Amino acid sequence: MTDCIFCKIAAGELPSTKVYEDDEILGFRDLYPVAPVHVLFIPKKHFANLGEATAGNQALLGKMLLVIGREAAGLGLTEGYRIVSNCGESAGQSVGHFHLHVMGGVDMMWPPG
Ligand code: 5GP
Ligand code: ZN
Repeated sequence: MTDCIFCKIAAGELPSTKVYEDDEILGFRDLYPVAPVHVLFIPKKHFANLGEATAGNQALLGKMLLVIGREAAGLGLTEGYRIVSNCGESAGQSVGHFHLHVMGGVDMMWPPG
């Protein structure tokens, strides 16, 4: 998608600090981290969020979770981490390209506050 910053990051047209890459998935550090480790995992192929995901995205979505599970320790997330995906503007989604936030490196209570 031409106007999408995460498509541009996936294509290498915008810079990012990559932590993981394969033919379908990119992991890179969030520009405005809210935790000591805050990484975004995206599919290279654009879809907006889980609400727009189709059955054709099923294997990719599963793979994203497995990749995160495998990469977490290497990212320093040995004490646990949280995965978040904001779906829609009212949930706080500001970039309309599906992404999983992976956050950790600090004690994370739930619910916050
Ligand atoms: P959302 O608010 O859509 O759930 O998450 C979007 C995330 O992307 C935010 O945490 C924001 O800090 C991050 N972000 C926005 N623009 C950029 C960028 O150009 N590069 C990187 N690495 N992260 C970005
Ligand atoms: Zn995109």
